[in-house]
Amino acid sequence: MTTSALARFQERLRVAELDAALIAAPETLPATNLRYLSGFTGSSAYLLVTPERAWLLTDGRYVEQARVESPAFEVVPQGRQVAETIAALCQEARIAKLGFEADKVPHAMYKAWRDQIPAIWRPLRRMVEDLRLVKTPEEIAAIREAAAIADDALAEVLPQAVGQSERELALALEWGMRRRGAEALAFPSIVVAGERGAWPHAQPSDRRIQPGELLILDFGAQVRGYKSDETVTVATGPVSEELRRLVDIVAEAQARGIEAARPGATAGSVDAAARSVIERAGYGAAFGHGTGHGVGLDIHEAPYAGPNPQLDVVLAPGMTLTVEPGIYLPGLGGCRLEDTLVITETGAERLTRWPKTFQVL
Ligand code: ZN
Ligand code: ZN
Repeated sequence: MTTSALARFQERLRVAELDAALIAAPETLPATNLRYLSGFTGSSAYLLVTPERAWLLTDGRYVEQARVESPAFEVVPQGRQVAETIAALCQEARIAKLGFEADKVPHAMYKAWRDQIPAIWRPLRRMVEDLRLVKTPEEIAAIREAAAIADDALAEVLPQAVGQSERELALALEWGMRRRGAEALAFPSIVVAGERGAWPHAQPSDRRIQPGELLILDFGAQVRGYKSDETVTVATGPVSEELRRLVDIVAEAQARGIEAARPGATAGSVDAAARSVIERAGYGAAFGHGTGHGVGLDIHEAPYAGPNPQLDVVLAPGMTLTVEPGIYLPGLGGCRLEDTLVITETGAERLTRWPKTFQVL
C-alpha cells in the first residue's frame, strides 16, 4: 500500500517537473502525509523524495524502526543538524527544484532551510492530500474495522447509560473500543446528554445521564492509523414531542444526505440535501456546522461537505465522507446523527452501522 503511494507521489513529482520534495514531520508538525507515503509511525522524521529515489531521515530513537516500517526508503540518521544532512543529500542527487509543504511548515523553519539548503523552493499545493483523497481497498478495510469495533463497543455500553456520568460512559465506551483492538481513539469522545447536547462539541462532564433525555455520543476507533467517526443520538426514556420531532428531522436530513452521496455528485450537494430538510423544518439557524468531511489517517480531511464552494470536490469511488447533520437548541438539547460512508461505483456504503432513527433505550 505504502509503496504504491510512494510511486504515485513520484509520478506527480515528475509531472510537476520537481527534482524532489521535502516532507517534514518533526514532533511539532502533522505526520499523516509522511506516514501515508512511508508507513513510518514514529513521532519525528523527514522524507526527501525524488522521482527515482526516496530517503527517510530520523533520529536515533527511530532508525531501526524506520528500516522495518519503510522498506522503500533509504533510512539515514538525521545527524545533529538535519538541514545539513538534507543539504548533503540534495547535493549528491543534484536536486535544484525542491517542493515543500508551504501550508504546514512554519515561517521560521522555512527561513532556516533556505539559509542552509541551496535549492529553488516550490510549494507542493496539496500534492499528498490529493493522493490521499481516494482510498485503496486496504485503507477502506482499516476504516471498516475501526467502525465495527466502535459499533460493538457502543452496543455493549449503551444499555447501562442511565445513571452514569457522561465521563463514566465515555470511559466505558473508550475501554470497550481499546479492548476490541482499537490501537487508539480516533479523537476524544463526545458524550453529552440533556441540555448539554446543545453544545455540539462539549467535553463529557460529571453530570449524570437521566431517564427521558437525548443522549449524544460522537466517537471513533483507530486501526492501523485509520479512524472511524460516528454520532448516535438516543432517547434515554420517553421524551417530549419536541425532542422526538428534532430527532425525526435530523434523521430525515441524514438520510437525504446519504442518498445524495454518490460518484459524480459534489460534496456540496450532500450538504445541500441534508441542510434543506432542516431549513424547511424551520431549524436552519440551529445547524451551524458543515454536513460532513472525509475520514482517513486524519479525522477531518478532504473532501468537505459544507456550504463553502471553494472546498467543494466531485465525489468519486473510494472517497470517504461523513454525513452528520444536527440541530442544537440552547436550554433544551440537541441531536446529531453521523455515519462514515465510502463512495462506491453506484452510490455510497455506510461503514458505521448503528441505526440512525429515533430510538429509546
Ligand atoms: Zn464525529
Ligand atoms: Zn465527523
